[in-house]
Amino acid sequence: MIEHDDNSYEKLKKTLVEKFEDHFGTRPFFLVAAPARVNLIGEHIDYCDGFVLPLAINRHVMIAATPNGSERANLLSLMLPNQPATVMLDEPPKVSQPSWANVIRGVFDGFRNKDFWPLPGFDAVIHSNVPLGAGLSSSAALEVAAATMVESLLGIEINPKNKALLCQTAEHKFAGVPCGIMDQFASVFGKKDHMILIDCRSEEAQAIPFADDSVEIIIADTRVKHALSDGSYANRRKHTEIALSILGKDSWRDVTMEDLLSAEPNMNEQVFRRARHVVTEIDRTQRAAMALARGKTETVGQLMADSHKSLRDDFEVSCKELDIMVEAAWDIGEAGGVLGSRMTGGGFGGSTVTLARKDNAEEIMQKMAATYQAQTGIEPSIFATTAVDGAHSLGL
Ligand code: ADP
Ligand code: MG
Repeated sequence: MIEHDDNSYEKLKKTLVEKFEDHFGTRPFFLVAAPARVNLIGEHIDYCDGFVLPLAINRHVMIAATPNGSERANLLSLMLPNQPATVMLDEPPKVSQPSWANVIRGVFDGFRNKDFWPLPGFDAVIHSNVPLGAGLSSSAALEVAAATMVESLLGIEINPKNKALLCQTAEHKFAGVPCGIMDQFASVFGKKDHMILIDCRSEEAQAIPFADDSVEIIIADTRVKHALSDGSYANRRKHTEIALSILGKDSWRDVTMEDLLSAEPNMNEQVFRRARHVVTEIDRTQRAAMALARGKTETVGQLMADSHKSLRDDFEVSCKELDIMVEAAWDIGEAGGVLGSRMTGGGFGGSTVTLARKDNAEEIMQKMAATYQAQTGIEPSIFATTAVDGAHSLGL
């Protein structure tokens, strides 16, 4: 299915406010939004002190809320309407049921650790057009939206970097996912028409303009998810830690290809391949950021292809469906307006990202959908998107 995103932000807002009024009988007092992200290049290296190059996309988690004068937060997600959650705000939050709300409990706990406690009670409705588990980081968008909501409620603004880190900690401690900083940073620091180059060692984010405005970003969700948040991600992270300790270095940024080749005899073959992905991907990401900023979009295509192959063969986080979707785009090629394509996000399913000429985008999406469906029997979900601003509160 090709989804057309026109007006999706306004539609989301309208539905949310209406449902809030139906449910609580008043207009919301606060309304906030946090975007999802797609990563152009720099995969699985945010936890390796690498560089990553995501952008915030025109898909959001929005929260409408109003103070309720109690000690509790009543939370309703329109995506999971049968699982309302109540969180006590006068005792330390703990992992509990329903599990979808754990990352929000984690965000509340982050404010508690900053001495904003107890939080004032409130009623909230959450709505979103970010598919869950599609590799677009709906979890980070939910965390950052929740943190932005708490800021509104308290009438404060915490330092944006600390806000992103607070959300990352929530994901670590309350969802058990040892993620890097990319997703939460992209949702906080996103900027219209810009990519965000994040240096994961210094934890600094820099907005880089898309120099070529004839380019469109296509996201293709394979609609498969082979592994859930748990084992494989933590396992890949573990491999990179083992490799770094064999290399005897404190940071991947100090590791050269020569270092890696000299250490190869001391590593098992699998750990070596994981390490090779990290070293080459850090290099590719820096080169891609420079090329994109200079409008040399074509250069990026090869880097994206190399990134995909490295994730597929060395890091082994791709899957049959992602490979089919990416190859469908590669086959269309530059002549058909495709500049580059790769899997994006953690892998094992989820989405691909494709840079395409705007004029060809519709045709490219149709072709990718047809090829993928013919080869897998699965109907994908494909849409074109633009880079948008990070989390913010909205007027009503
Ligand atoms: P991804 O972040 O790639 O979309 P995850 O498995 O990390 O996939 O995150 C999905 C989880 O995020 C859900 O299980 C749920 O806990 C939470 N979540 C995200 N958006 C919503 C939403 N709109 N309503 C309820 N829970 C949500
Ligand atoms: Mg996630």
